Amino acid sequence: MKKYDLKKVLTWLGFMLHCPVCNVKYDFSSIKIVDSESDAQTGEARLLIHSDCQKCKSSVMFNIDINGPDIFTVIAKTDLTSKDSAKFSKYPSLDIDDCIKVHNSLNAFDGDFIRALKK
Ligand SMILES: [Zn+2]
Repeated sequence: MKKYDLKKVLTWLGFMLHCPVCNVKYDFSSIKIVDSESDAQTGEARLLIHSDCQKCKSSVMFNIDINGPDIFTVIAKTDLTSKDSAKFSKYPSLDIDDCIKVHNSLNAFDGDFIRALKK
């Protein structure tokens, strides 16, 4: 049963991960774990990490899946700061009903932003 030392994983990630915008290496202090889970039986782990680039000030979310010796990373640029991501991670996920409400609102919208924003 493999147990992951998250601090060691983050140190390694800080060495390996680069900003996709300016290519500068991330500083360990700029990496924050938003969510994590691991399965002691399979040795699999998943991390959701947020990082702010000190150089270009862009923010990036990394979804990292660790499966034995294999590490898979998906990178998404975001306009959420690390403070925002901590705040919004407490809210429930959007569901299909939320998407339908937005779709119906946009379908009914006549394009008059001045009137819509005065409400
Ligand atoms: Zn950058």
